[in-house]
Amino acid sequence: MEDRIKLSLPACTGEEIKYIKEALAGDWIVPLGPQVDYFEELLGEYLDAPGRVVALSSGTAALHLGLVMLGVEAGDEVICQDLTFSASANPIVYQGAHPVFVDSEIGTMNISPEFLEQAICERIAVTGRRPKAIVAVDLYGMPAKWDEILSIADRYDIPVLEDAAEALGSEYKGRKCGNFGRYGVLSFNGNKMITTSGGGALICPDVASARRVKFFATQARENKPYYYHEHIGYNYRLSNISGGIGCAQMGDLARRVERRRSIHDFYKEELCCIDLLKVQDNPSADYVSNFWLTTIQIQDTKGGITPELVRQHMDSHNIETRLLWRPMHMQPVFSVAPYYGSHVGEELFGGGLCLPSGASLRQDQLQKVVDSLKEILQ
Ligand SMILES: *Cc1c(COP(=O)(O)O)cnc(C)c1O
Repeated sequence: MEDRIKLSLPACTGEEIKYIKEALAGDWIVPLGPQVDYFEELLGEYLDAPGRVVALSSGTAALHLGLVMLGVEAGDEVICQDLTFSASANPIVYQGAHPVFVDSEIGTMNISPEFLEQAICERIAVTGRRPKAIVAVDLYGMPAKWDEILSIADRYDIPVLEDAAEALGSEYKGRKCGNFGRYGVLSFNGNKMITTSGGGALICPDVASARRVKFFATQARENKPYYYHEHIGYNYRLSNISGGIGCAQMGDLARRVERRRSIHDFYKEELCCIDLLKVQDNPSADYVSNFWLTTIQIQDTKGGITPELVRQHMDSHNIETRLLWRPMHMQPVFSVAPYYGSHVGEELFGGGLCLPSGASLRQDQLQKVVDSLKEILQ
C-alpha cells in the first residue's frame, strides 16, 4: 500500500539517541538535568532571549504558568483569540477566570485589533474592571498584527500572553515570534516545528521571572531544609530525556523552517491557477511565517464544494488534510462566554483547509497533493 501523506509528521534528526544515551549514562532519568539546561540555552540563543526560556512539560502548561505569572485569578476576565486551538483558552478556566473571545481579522487570521479594543472597552463598561490579560495567537505560524495589538494593550495597561505554539521560527518585523507578549509560549508536541515527544516552553520578560516560573513548575517548594509551601505549585518541568530530544531537534530547526516555507511556495505556485481556491500568504513583508501549516480558503459559494468534501476526497487518495480550528465561541464548552466580532473566524473556518506541510514530505508527495486538489477543484 502506498504511504499515507500526513499533515505534519514528527521526525527524528538521528542525533536524539546521542543525547538520550548521555542522559542515561549520567543517570539523569529525571525531570530537569543537564539536557534540559542545554535545551533552554539553545532556545534562548535562537530566540534572542538568553536565560529567559523555561522548558516545561507542554505548551498548555506554559500557557497556564503564563497566566499564573500575570496574576490571573478566579473571577478575572481574560481576553482570548476566538479562532484557535482550545489549549489557548482552557488554562484561563484552570485559573477559575472567564474567557472573553475576540474575532480574527482576515489577513493574519489572528486577533482583530479593532474588536480587541471594542472588547476591552465593553468589558470595562460591563464589569467595571479591566480584563486581566490578553491571549493572542500566531495561528498556523502566521505572526499576529503585533504593532497594533501591543499598542492597544499598552494603552489599557493589559499584559499580553503570546501563544506562539505553532510559530517557532516565524518573524514579525525581523523579530522572532514568542517575543511579543510579556510572556510567550512554545509547544514541542509531536506535530509542531520541533518535538520533544511532548513539551513546551515559556519565554519570560527577565531572568528573575524565569526563575519564578521554574519555582512554580517544581511544586513551589520554598528554599528551606523541609518541605514548605507558601504557594500552590505545579509539576510542569520537562523531563531530562525529553530535553535531550529537544537538543537534537534544535539542530534541524533552521532546515525545517526553510522546508516548510518552500512547501508553502510550491503550493502557492501550483495552486494559483485555481479560481476557487486561495492559499494564505504573508500579508506584507513585515510578516514572515514559518508556514507550520499551509492553509487554503475554498471560495465556492455556488458549486457547493466545501472543505469537508475536499477533505474526504483527499482522504480517499490517502492524503490527510484538516479543517481549520473551530472557533472557541462555537464550542459547547464555551457557549456562555462573551464574544466580540463579526464572525470572520466562522467564515475562515467554513472555507478553510490545512494541507500536508511536514518538513519530511517528498516532492512527489507534494505533487500528489496538488494533483488531487486540482482533480476536485478544477
Ligand atoms: C499545540 C498548541 C498548544 C498546546 O501545546 P501542547 O504542547 O500540545 O500542550 C497551544 N496553542 C496552540 C495554538 C497550539 O497549536
